[in-house]
Amino acid sequence: MNVRDSVVVITGGGQGLGRAMAVHLAGKGARLALIDLNEERLQEAVSQCKEAGAPDARYYLCNVAREAEVESAFARIDEDFGAIDALVNNAGILRDGLFVKAKDGQIVKKMSLDQWQAVIDVNLTGVFLCGREAAVRMIEKDRKGCIINISSISRAGNMGQTNYSAAKAGVAAMTVTWAKELARYGIRSMAIAPGFIETEMTASMKPEALEMMCKMIPLHRMGKPEEIAHTVAYILENDYVSGRVIEVDGALRL
Ligand code: NAP
Repeated sequence: MNVRDSVVVITGGGQGLGRAMAVHLAGKGARLALIDLNEERLQEAVSQCKEAGAPDARYYLCNVAREAEVESAFARIDEDFGAIDALVNNAGILRDGLFVKAKDGQIVKKMSLDQWQAVIDVNLTGVFLCGREAAVRMIEKDRKGCIINISSISRAGNMGQTNYSAAKAGVAAMTVTWAKELARYGIRSMAIAPGFIETEMTASMKPEALEMMCKMIPLHRMGKPEEIAHTVAYILENDYVSGRVIEVDGALRL
């Protein structure tokens, strides 16, 4: 795919990895539709995209976990831009906690259903809904598009992340399924599994946990959002990659 003038939708595009992807693709001349929840951050991201060279950049307030909002946002994007060429399913949240925590044989805490459901709703159902609506639009307009899902190194299973690991493993599995199902329409599907990347999400982790993590990373540093953005551009530009998960984690494997 030629990124220049392609219409790329990025969920969670207001900050962190999503914003870095948007600005990187803007520099390559992509037209950007950013989906997120916070209007102020979206406005900033859109301005940055325009400064970086995007011929067009707009934002859409939409909760990716709500079907009606997602359907309406994709309909508006299709109308505003005339088509959708690519989607990056990037919006995600953390609600970490141990599955069950006990002390001296007594249960102290357990992961609540709310903690589980919130992460499944955004990180798994949100990817399903946005992926589906993007595929519908691509097929209707006969665009040979690409869907990129942001999974995580945690998809292999990570302490304190029953909810997040399950969602990210599901995202990796959906990616392969879509690559097989949608290839007949010329649509590719790929996933990226980042390790620990410097964003607002990881800034919310305890400093001791972050320091310990950096020591465990063979490259001895966290990744930069631009390094994930670079991978997104590579996937869009290489028409023979599909149905795989690219790990960008400094050689850290959980
Ligand atoms: P981030 O800084 O928290 O950004 C995520 C964005 O998604 C935020 O702007 C957030 O808005 C938005 N969002 C959350 N729930 C949403 C919803 N229901 N509908 C629409 N937008 C929503 O996170 P990040 O670090 O950039 O992470 C981006 C993606 O990479 C996530 O899927 C994450 O799981 C994945 N990832 C990150 C890392 C890392 O080290 N950073 C590693 C592996 C995977 P609000 O802030 O308003 O909630």
